[in-house]
Amino acid sequence: MIIDPLDAMTTAPTRLEINLAAIAANWRRVASETPHGRAAAVVKADGYGCGAVPVGQTLYGAGARLFFTAHLSEALALRQALPQPDAEIGVFNGLLPGEAESYRAHRILPVLNDLGQIEVWADFCRRQGIALPACIQIDTGMRRLGLPPYEVETLRDETSRLAGIEFRYLLSHMAAGDDPAHALNMVQRDAFAAACSALPRPSGGTMLAASSGAFLGPDYAFDWVRPGYALYGGNPVPGRPNPMTPVVRLAARILQTRRITRGDTVGYGATWTAEKPSHIATIALGYADGYLRSLSSRGVVHLDGTPIPVVGRVSMDLVTLDISAFPDSSPGLEVEVIGPHQGVDAVAEKAGTIGYEILTGLGARYARIYSGE
Ligand SMILES: *Cc1c(COP(=O)(O)O)cnc(C)c1O
Repeated sequence: MIIDPLDAMTTAPTRLEINLAAIAANWRRVASETPHGRAAAVVKADGYGCGAVPVGQTLYGAGARLFFTAHLSEALALRQALPQPDAEIGVFNGLLPGEAESYRAHRILPVLNDLGQIEVWADFCRRQGIALPACIQIDTGMRRLGLPPYEVETLRDETSRLAGIEFRYLLSHMAAGDDPAHALNMVQRDAFAAACSALPRPSGGTMLAASSGAFLGPDYAFDWVRPGYALYGGNPVPGRPNPMTPVVRLAARILQTRRITRGDTVGYGATWTAEKPSHIATIALGYADGYLRSLSSRGVVHLDGTPIPVVGRVSMDLVTLDISAFPDSSPGLEVEVIGPHQGVDAVAEKAGTIGYEILTGLGARYARIYSGE
């Protein structure tokens, strides 16, 4: 049988379906959590594995005008897809040597993370004879990127360091927003509020909360919230029902089935042994596709809503299932790996990680199908 390349998208052994309408709905949902309704959109790591370009274009269509990536290269790719002058794109990781020209040429906002970067950008603006926009990130407790408190004090006392820059947004990032009871949340909130009053007012506004912080209430909302994970259907309120709409569905077709007898082992290392005659099915995804090896003999997929256990080690390209509950299943039959019966957060829990890692690891080999554009 010759498969038409377009047809292959629907008959592909492993399909990743991404619902763009759900991403837009989630963006609106997070914004509606705040008193001001203003949400940026974080699309780093290829839009958390969902595709930064289709995600960015969808969210622009839904009304988003402020986007963030981690790397300049990601921002440059997004700028090609969002040439509209009112789409602002910021880069969290900061201004690196030699990058200023690219930021200017492609109208991207560096996030200035220390006094040195502020100086480089201010010098660049003076030489260019134009106040170019930039964000400033301050560290209120994450201790990863951003001006540490002693540099914030210097900036407060020497605001002339900002001369020549268009100071557009002030941001900080929370360390424990997913744990509402964590004492650091209020500490960070108060430190950020203090910096907002002490520093010159940014023309675009202030922002502290990411996905989880956006659900901590109005005290954390400032002028903007800055969600990533929640946009892609991840649960921003762990331990409580997920308020977000699911975005990804991952489905795999059975490649081959076999009968095995009691005592037979399955997979590398012969780590799983059948305790009774069993039916084994093999599907086309593995750790090279982001199906984590820690799911060996722990993961489950679903068939008609019934959980089907992963047995034996996850291979690079293949996963084996104990499909004895459906002894008549045959090659071509589709099982659900991520979907309504088991969302990203549930898969992550079985794998001993967080949904962020599952999403950003979603494989490049899947046939990607976008809906709801
Ligand atoms: C990744 C990131 C975000 C988004 O975080 P989520 O938890 O995915 O919503 C926001 N701000 C900064 C600085 C980040 O690095």
